[in-house]
Amino acid sequence: MLSKKIENAINKQINAELWSAYLYLSMSAYFESTNLGGCANWMRVQAHEELTHAMKFYHHVIDRRGRVTVAAITAPSINWKSPLHVFEEAFKHEQKVTGLIADLANMAAAEKDHATASMLKWFIDEQVEEELSTDVIVQKLKMIGSNTGGLYMLDRELAERKAK
Ligand code: MG
Repeated sequence: MLSKKIENAINKQINAELWSAYLYLSMSAYFESTNLGGCANWMRVQAHEELTHAMKFYHHVIDRRGRVTVAAITAPSINWKSPLHVFEEAFKHEQKVTGLIADLANMAAAEKDHATASMLKWFIDEQVEEELSTDVIVQKLKMIGSNTGGLYMLDRELAERKAK
């Protein structure tokens, strides 16, 4: 059985993961509007990954005989200044999510909820990957600067990302 405290916290995290999906979908749509189809693809795959994160938390609550309660998802931004701005915001967002997962892990430890702690281990490792993958693109975009040929090449590279 889940404690009410952990149940509430995971329900909030389900909302945060769905919000992440919505943010990345918005970023994908922004890239489509600027004819960067590869960047749009990368963000679409990212949005899909976030849905799978939400579902991992969802199933944990269900499997522990808890109650999933869904709440409203607030609207993310719809416009950014540049591709670099988008990926900088994505990186900052992932750092924020890492903090949320750490808060959950601290709560699970304090509540001696070993099953939740074990489930969260996957997310702790995943966040290392999430921060790295967004920061790698930030660094590439900084290197590219105003070189449109470089942006074209990166867009082609990001077109290759496929859903896991
Ligand atoms: Mg996530």
